[in-house]
Amino acid sequence: MKIGNVEIGRRLERFQAACRRAGVKLTHQRLEILREIAGSTEHPDAETVYRGVRARVPTVSLDTVYRTLWLLDGLGLITTLGPRRESVRFDPNLEHHHHFLCVQCGQAMDFESPDLNALPIPASVKKIGSVLATHVEVRGLCVACTKETATGRTQAKGRPRRKPSKP
Ligand SMILES: [Zn+2]
Ligand SMILES: [Zn+2]
Repeated sequence: MKIGNVEIGRRLERFQAACRRAGVKLTHQRLEILREIAGSTEHPDAETVYRGVRARVPTVSLDTVYRTLWLLDGLGLITTLGPRRESVRFDPNLEHHHHFLCVQCGQAMDFESPDLNALPIPASVKKIGSVLATHVEVRGLCVACTKETATGRTQAKGRPRRKPSKP
């Protein structure tokens, strides 16, 4: 799935407006990091964003990418998936949506479902704490991995996207 330039432009404008409101200086590097995450549907981790930005801005550091992504997260402009560790992944899609996580290739794909959006929060959850946001994660084999498995080429593209976290 690819996002259109209109949506990327819309996200970039929202990022820039929010940064101005928050008094965050938009350096060239930050803008390129915004551009990279705004155009992604892959829920990249910081290293993947870093590799993409570095191709255009060779002087950018991984540290700057991390700090900028967490800044955007703090401004409510992106969200994260998974636990807050080094392998955390960033999501520029702020529409209420859900994820299909492929257990083989590690891709997380967005999907929408009014039915899932409307799921009531169980009372058992309310006992644990107050709910800020919900999303459903479906795990399975994506179409491409299903085809590979069917043709017996399970090794061909089984490259995990998530690196194991450092000790
Ligand atoms: Zn897959
Ligand atoms: Zn998503």
